[in-house]
Amino acid sequence: NPVVPEMPDTLALQAQDAAHYLHPFTDHTQLHSKGSRMIVRGDGIYLWDSEGKKILDGMSGLWCVNVGYGRSSIAQAVHKQMDVLPFYNSFFNTSNVPAVQLAAKLAELAPPGFQHVFYTGSGSEANDTNVRMVRRYWDLMGYPDRHVIISRRNAYHGSTMAGASLGGMSGMHEQGGLPIPGIVHIGQPHYFDDGVGMTPEDFGLRAAGWLEKKILEIGADKVGAFIGEPIQGAGGVVIPPDTYWPEIRRICRKYDVLLIADEVITGFGRLGRWFGSELFGIEPDLITFAKGVTSGYVPLGGVLVSDRVAKVVMDGGEFTHGFTYSGHPVACAAALENIRIIEEEKLVERVAEDTGPYLRQRFASLAAHPLVGVAETCGFVAGLNLVRGKAARLHDQLRFDPALGVGMVCRGHMFNNGMIMRAVGERMIVAPPLVMGRAQIDEMVA
Ligand code: PLP
Repeated sequence: NPVVPEMPDTLALQAQDAAHYLHPFTDHTQLHSKGSRMIVRGDGIYLWDSEGKKILDGMSGLWCVNVGYGRSSIAQAVHKQMDVLPFYNSFFNTSNVPAVQLAAKLAELAPPGFQHVFYTGSGSEANDTNVRMVRRYWDLMGYPDRHVIISRRNAYHGSTMAGASLGGMSGMHEQGGLPIPGIVHIGQPHYFDDGVGMTPEDFGLRAAGWLEKKILEIGADKVGAFIGEPIQGAGGVVIPPDTYWPEIRRICRKYDVLLIADEVITGFGRLGRWFGSELFGIEPDLITFAKGVTSGYVPLGGVLVSDRVAKVVMDGGEFTHGFTYSGHPVACAAALENIRIIEEEKLVERVAEDTGPYLRQRFASLAAHPLVGVAETCGFVAGLNLVRGKAARLHDQLRFDPALGVGMVCRGHMFNNGMIMRAVGERMIVAPPLVMGRAQIDEMVA
């Protein structure tokens, strides 16, 4: 990457940061005593801070920089589009070239039965769109009572009022009076927490059964949709047993409940498929996407709308919903170039056939460490549990007292020593850029 910025004055920046910047998801009482670490440059899978220290980014930023940092062709595509047409919306019978081209491309890449896309600026806005689109769909179908949406505890679906309500993070519900009405939660398919004494297969069926129970409790005539991440990301890389999603699909079909797959993390190659729905056999009616669609270079999100839903919504006249930045030409141009790179470098196939299996094998070797319990991967997401000691049965592994914050300590130690991981309780997570090669996997695992 030829673009090497001048090193800023770190202390001066940290002082301005503390004085003026209210950060998202940050405990400022901690931040201000230490000061933010300023990230100034990226290239491939590496970042550099304002003191010139190199960091291996095991998290692809926030699970999004799928093609890695420093892709000048995306910068050029953005520059060109800004010169030609920096903005025009697609409200009121207008459209723009990159938005149309990207819609056609997404229809080509999506699972069968998806020919339409609704654009947003982020994953959160896309999930808000889902709530309104599901309710609009059932209104038009003549079932205005089918407005309840079922989600799962510990899910993450964004930070807007609807996104955070769909999410099942208790820490978020505690702030701002959430969830909003009409959104309810069931348990998550977390085998290592809740599957004691069961096989993963039996537990998968049991966890899916919680959906059926909830539908019957509420009344199927009131339930509009179920939403879930194929793999729960922010909740700690919760990989469901293979039996889970087919059973969820069966239940949704049985009660005619729409199925929403939130693929904000799992889309665009992360699991070795264009969409994680294909890997798990989900067959959703709506797919939320964001992050990997542009590899985070420019904000963009949206909903892939199945033909079933699209026909009803489009035949129903105006859907009174949209954002100024829906179908932003610059973001769509970035996405088109990002997707071209993913295709040209066969990143989806690489993760499926080469680097994904290699990561699985290398990451699993960490389980030999006395302080590591389960160490598992799916495509290019991986999680391991820090434990106080091992036991014969996985569920009996000796856990740290959560109050110790062992995961956060480990995360801080890693960060100070040149690598970014994420911590969710005692679960340590990586989701590296899809361009990471075998030697870099070795470096990360070491
Ligand atoms: N859905 C999932 C599964 C996510 O992981 C995220 C973000 O991490 C979102 C939705 C929200 O996306 P955004 O932060 O772009 O609003």
